[in-house]
Amino acid sequence: MKRDCLEIVREKCENCHACALGATRNNIVFSDGNPSTAKIVLIGEAPGETEDMTGTPFVGRAGKLLSDFLAEAGISREEDVYIINTVKCRPPENRVPTDAEKASCRKFLEAQIDIINPRAIVLCGATALKSFIELDKKQTISKVRGQWMTVTVDGKDYRAMTIFHPSYLLRNHSMEDGSPRRLMQEDLRNIKNEVLSDVNHDSIDISADNIFANSSEQLSLV
Ligand code: SF4
Repeated sequence: MKRDCLEIVREKCENCHACALGATRNNIVFSDGNPSTAKIVLIGEAPGETEDMTGTPFVGRAGKLLSDFLAEAGISREEDVYIINTVKCRPPENRVPTDAEKASCRKFLEAQIDIINPRAIVLCGATALKSFIELDKKQTISKVRGQWMTVTVDGKDYRAMTIFHPSYLLRNHSMEDGSPRRLMQEDLRNIKNEVLSDVNHDSIDISADNIFANSSEQLSLV
């Protein structure tokens, strides 16, 4: 049922040229994950070059790092998370999508959340955060991340938490206490415990101590 509803939204999205991003895309980047089992909607910023070529969000180095962090926390990217972006088409030169572009694409975002009806929404990075929460000048993602809040989508309230975007973590390799990577690890474990306490994945077999230290993704970045 969810898949059928999402397919209708996807077809509309594929034919959409409501903003200028539609003119330069190679593919719409609609979603990733299993809509039948996902209990979390994770929202990123916008497709990048690899995403635009493949039609899948969070692939490439940042996507691999996100997958590693999710797995380490015991969250299955394939089963627990439905991943989307604030806009479905790639902004040229990977710039941040404008408010007008995000507003044009909001109908697809809201339709996806409505259909998935998640237990929680994870806002991945500042662009996703600002799409749902109006920040005052003192509030930065570093101060807001890790806190449970409520966001309202199409009249319905959802639990939500902001986490760092993996692209930011690609530039910050430290795993010391208080480092962005360590905070990401803590936030995702918190999400796992609060949202997926009844879900266990025996198949996720990643050592918390070894994954980042041995990750080829990290080694290639140092
Ligand atoms: S970004 Fe969204 S609103 Fe803009 S053309 Fe693509 S699908 Fe349509």
